[in-house]
Amino acid sequence: MSDCNDSDVKLPPVLRIGEFPANAHALLQARFAPVSLADIDHDDALRERVGAIVTRSNYDIDTALIERLPALKIISTSGVGFDRIPVGFARERGIVVANTPDLLNAAVAELTVGLLLALLRQLPRADRFVRSGAWSGGAFALGSSLAGKRVGIVGMGRIGKEIACRLAPFDVEVAYYGRTKQALPYEWFAHATDLARWSDILIAACPGGSETRHLVNAAVLDALGARGLLVNIARGSVVDEGALIEALERNAIAGAALDVFEDEPLEASPLCALDNVVLSPHIGSATHETRMAMAQLTVDNIVSFFSTGKAITPVLATAP
Ligand code: NAP
Repeated sequence: MSDCNDSDVKLPPVLRIGEFPANAHALLQARFAPVSLADIDHDDALRERVGAIVTRSNYDIDTALIERLPALKIISTSGVGFDRIPVGFARERGIVVANTPDLLNAAVAELTVGLLLALLRQLPRADRFVRSGAWSGGAFALGSSLAGKRVGIVGMGRIGKEIACRLAPFDVEVAYYGRTKQALPYEWFAHATDLARWSDILIAACPGGSETRHLVNAAVLDALGARGLLVNIARGSVVDEGALIEALERNAIAGAALDVFEDEPLEASPLCALDNVVLSPHIGSATHETRMAMAQLTVDNIVSFFSTGKAITPVLATAP
């Protein structure tokens, strides 16, 4: 819990917010021996020296915590999303926010393709069908092909592009919606509703936060239509979950595959009772390889900041 040396770099105490996977935790422990909220609650002198927060994108950093840490210089989050960090508030106080972009593109894109195929071919139900012995009672229901489908991506950023690349060999047509038209070989739609109307499959891959809250709403789901499928690997806040449940229950869309939810962890939800959904517990980046690389960059951002004055991957100045 004391100040720790990293090679020649003198680091101030680092506060850990949230839980990390075991290997990543061990890495943080070895480099920082981070302190906890309980530690600073009982030690004002320690609290006043905390220079860095290390966290993950599933945890809230609130303005009250930042105000309690007068020496705070950097918030280093393991994850690309920073919708739970008050970036503008931190910036006003000269505090740098750093994240771990790009390292997780492959893992999130792989999960997206996996969820989509699981939804099209009803893999969770098929698995239950075999295990339960129901197969001896007759053949399993037919699924749908991915080949030939139109895939609309809401948020064609680093992850959206990786998803588009990984879907190309499946022989699909790709289009996207975002605030800006990019120089890409895909059609751009200026409105999410128009993209949904064009799409057989709509994939949400944009950031969370107030600007994108309920971007996928009842009107977008209506435009997606009765044969349409939704995949959300972005943030739960991007989709109006109430409208989605209603659309799924009345078969106004054909199905959904969801990795993220408005309230996590998802517990008692009507989604759990629906056959036309595939659910995963926010595991977009959750592979051993990816989470270790993210943890390493989370550490390196802090070390770089205190040795050079700059984080390696700061959140850009244009972020809200
Ligand atoms: P990125 O490179 O910043 O891309 C974000 C894209 O969203 C951009 O193309 C941007 O285009 C678009 N966008 C931003 N604000 C928008 C708005 N208000 N309306 C419409 N489009 C908007 O980010 P990324 O690295 O691809 O990550 C995207 C998100 O994926 C993260 O923020 C995170 O929420 C989510 N994610 C989820 C998991 C998981 O475990 N499920 C893991 C990692 C990341 P324009 O600027 O042109 O609008």
